[in-house]
Amino acid sequence: MTGVFTIGCHLSIAKGFAAAARDAVSIGANTFQFFTRNPRGGKAKAIDPADMAEFRSIAAEQGITRVLAHAPYTLNPASATERTRVFAREVLADDLLRMEQIPGQLYNMHPGSHVGQGPEAGIAMIAEAINSALDPAQTTTLLLETMAGKGTEIGRSFEELRDIIERIELQDHVGVCLDTCHVWDAGYDLAHLDDVLEQFDRVLGIERLRAIHLNDSKNPLASHKDRHEQIGKGRIGLGSLMAVVMHPQLKDLPFFLETPHDSLSGYAEEISLLKQARLDAFGAA
Ligand code: FE
Ligand code: FE
Ligand code: ZN
Repeated sequence: MTGVFTIGCHLSIAKGFAAAARDAVSIGANTFQFFTRNPRGGKAKAIDPADMAEFRSIAAEQGITRVLAHAPYTLNPASATERTRVFAREVLADDLLRMEQIPGQLYNMHPGSHVGQGPEAGIAMIAEAINSALDPAQTTTLLLETMAGKGTEIGRSFEELRDIIERIELQDHVGVCLDTCHVWDAGYDLAHLDDVLEQFDRVLGIERLRAIHLNDSKNPLASHKDRHEQIGKGRIGLGSLMAVVMHPQLKDLPFFLETPHDSLSGYAEEISLLKQARLDAFGAA
């Protein structure tokens, strides 16, 4: 009655893609998220064909069918500085080119911060950068992440994401990644999940939703802080996060934990808790 539960967490690819896939398997995950390069935006390491071949064979063997790449979070296509905007465009284009090594996957980015220029100006610049980087031949789906609204972050509302997506030429190449901590911090009350999804559907269309970042939040609703907490230990709470994982409109999406842990065992525990809940609810993990 239910599909495969696609669950994983953010992992380092410092030791390569094959090592990351092995780490994923070791914690009971069947997907993972990784930074395409240093999160602060340094130069990307060349992809090693041998590592990629090994990754493909582990992935096939272990049922890892989806992975999510994450752009460096310092990327800001809405910067007031020309050089920073050019750099963002270059990184986007280079990352999307490299993503073709793992075709048909997801690439997530924070839209950017308008740094006082105003959301409208920022939205236009973000769309421009995405339009410059996307190519019709690419197989990757670029996702815009819902943001907490810290500082001048764009993407603090579904409407802001819609306004970016509306300006994108290759509409079928873009989607949305919903971060539970971020939407909560932005003011969407996950205790009323159906209402939140109804708003998402009305503004963006539910079919745009392609991935979930599953995080609890250290702060109350609408705090605009963006401080992640372990599942069930924050202000969103276990009940509301479980409801996300079980929701008929969400349950087949890939889920990625970005919760604070010192070691992989913390993720293993969260994954097993979530799997057990799915098993109890659906009779299949
Ligand atoms: Fe993110
Ligand atoms: Fe996130
Ligand atoms: Zn965050």
